[in-house]
Amino acid sequence: MSGDLRGADAGQTVTLQGWVHRRRDLGGLIFVDLRDRAGLVQVVIEPGSPAFAVGEQLRPEFIVTVSGSVRLRPEEQRTTRLETGDVEVLAEALSILSEAKTPPFVLNNPEAAAEVSEELRLKYRYLDLRRPEAAAPLMLRHRVSKAIWDFLDAEGFVQVETPLLTLSTPEGARDYVVPSRTQPGNFYALPQSPQLFKQLLMMGGLERYFQIARCFRDEDLRADRQPDFTQLDIELSFVEQDDILALNERLMQFVVKTALGRDIEVPFSRLSYDEALTRYGSDKPDVRFALELTDLSPVFSSTTFRGFASVLASGGSVRALPVSAEHAASLSRKRLGELETHAKTYGAQGLAWLRREGEGFSGPIAKFLADAEVQALAQHAPDEGDLLLIVAAKTRTACEALGAVRLRLAHELGLIPKGELAFLWVVDFPLLEHDEETGGYTYMHHPFTRPRDEDLPLLGSDPGKVRAWAYDLVLNGFEIGGGSLRIHKLETQLTMFRALGFSDDEARARFGFFLDALAYGAPPHGGVAWGLDRLIMLLAGAKSLREVIAFPKNQRGADPLTGAPGPLTQAQLAELSLQLATIPKTEEPA
Ligand code: ASP
Repeated sequence: MSGDLRGADAGQTVTLQGWVHRRRDLGGLIFVDLRDRAGLVQVVIEPGSPAFAVGEQLRPEFIVTVSGSVRLRPEEQRTTRLETGDVEVLAEALSILSEAKTPPFVLNNPEAAAEVSEELRLKYRYLDLRRPEAAAPLMLRHRVSKAIWDFLDAEGFVQVETPLLTLSTPEGARDYVVPSRTQPGNFYALPQSPQLFKQLLMMGGLERYFQIARCFRDEDLRADRQPDFTQLDIELSFVEQDDILALNERLMQFVVKTALGRDIEVPFSRLSYDEALTRYGSDKPDVRFALELTDLSPVFSSTTFRGFASVLASGGSVRALPVSAEHAASLSRKRLGELETHAKTYGAQGLAWLRREGEGFSGPIAKFLADAEVQALAQHAPDEGDLLLIVAAKTRTACEALGAVRLRLAHELGLIPKGELAFLWVVDFPLLEHDEETGGYTYMHHPFTRPRDEDLPLLGSDPGKVRAWAYDLVLNGFEIGGGSLRIHKLETQLTMFRALGFSDDEARARFGFFLDALAYGAPPHGGVAWGLDRLIMLLAGAKSLREVIAFPKNQRGADPLTGAPGPLTQAQLAELSLQLATIPKTEEPA
């Protein structure tokens, strides 16, 4: 291929196909940078050559075939800018395979292309992909998938495809649904994950399953979400948590080595959910930098400051993010105000601050401090200028708000080292969390997660205290995977559904097929799923998921290329026995 030619190929006759990247006419000669998937090579067309007349017609993005001989460039014209920079091809025959309209944005200038709006690039994604920078993440993605297949195949895993037209799988999001034509009024759901099917495969005796699976979740879209996305889905029988974590570590090590040529250390460190929350204010902590939260509740146990006293009295806590003087110096009142606004979007009522000044502290709440409190606080802010950023709230809210402030500060202060891959496990998740809206409990992962045996009795009495055999895999502050050991006993599964507020009849109505399967005996099993798009985004150093997906949706969940989602004709609606309640106004095309 064009991009593969090197000095050693000099003297060879070659036939190349590719795209005209750039054409320059210079001193009577025509120079064409010919591009294919492997890169660029310079083609020279001399005036006497039979190729010259065609050469004069060439414009960017025309597709051509050219035959000629490879020769070394004169010494002074060699360039390291191109991998093929030592050689050029002297054209002898040239023909045009396809002409091309002028593209709506420049393809042969990476800086200019970076300025082009993403919407336009997605509308013409097939042009965008001609840019090597845009295609590179897809190549990486291929290498990652191949590494996954190779590794898991060697470990005895079987790849199985599970259905896309199915029933709802409870992963906590809304389903995408597909109407059935032949059974009017009935709908398939697209899978939020293959969860139930992979468990059924374990009950079917497959023992080791994997799939690079497409999943669908109808969620409010955020910057790092896609309505359809890809998981590496894995399930194994006869394993404990440690077996699964170790398998994942070895797999990740192999993937990173094969795809990027980099070594990573295993085992990954582990943090309990509680520790992640109290130290980093997040269940997916970014541990590439040191800032850590601390608990000031004991310091303020008899405070006269009403704001803190009332929170403590109602069971909340006072948490702080200590920031050293060196980093705190740039935090003016204005910046502190901005951080407070940020903390409030995470549920904090406010962000108090205290700055070490001489023996005491300055700041809006400094006047409320008793001597003993000043002394205790001094341990958390030992040096002149050290800063304490403080939130008083329910413990989880206080930690999460400070966790958000921590991340923002790290970005603003440039504390995050580039190029590092910081993997870690978060383990010991609670099984259930309290649902403020309904007053009941909901699952933290999904309703098939196995509770710790010793905590089972609490399911009836104090469900919030039950710990799960569940784990999340975190990379640089992103959750890139999660999984659990599963309930494999029918009775436990029914108890779990009851704790979630389902009667046995309701559970049977929704998951009867699954409960039946459990009744026929399930091996102890567990598994994991990786968010493959996100992992590849991080490995590629890409800024968004859209860069690592061939045909992504935009932030409104639409595909600017095909125009999906689109309306149905009256005839299609009638065939599906569907009637629209109201015809929504069609959105303005972007
Ligand atoms: N199905 C789960 C998910 O999509 C992963 C797992 O538990 O294996 O998050």
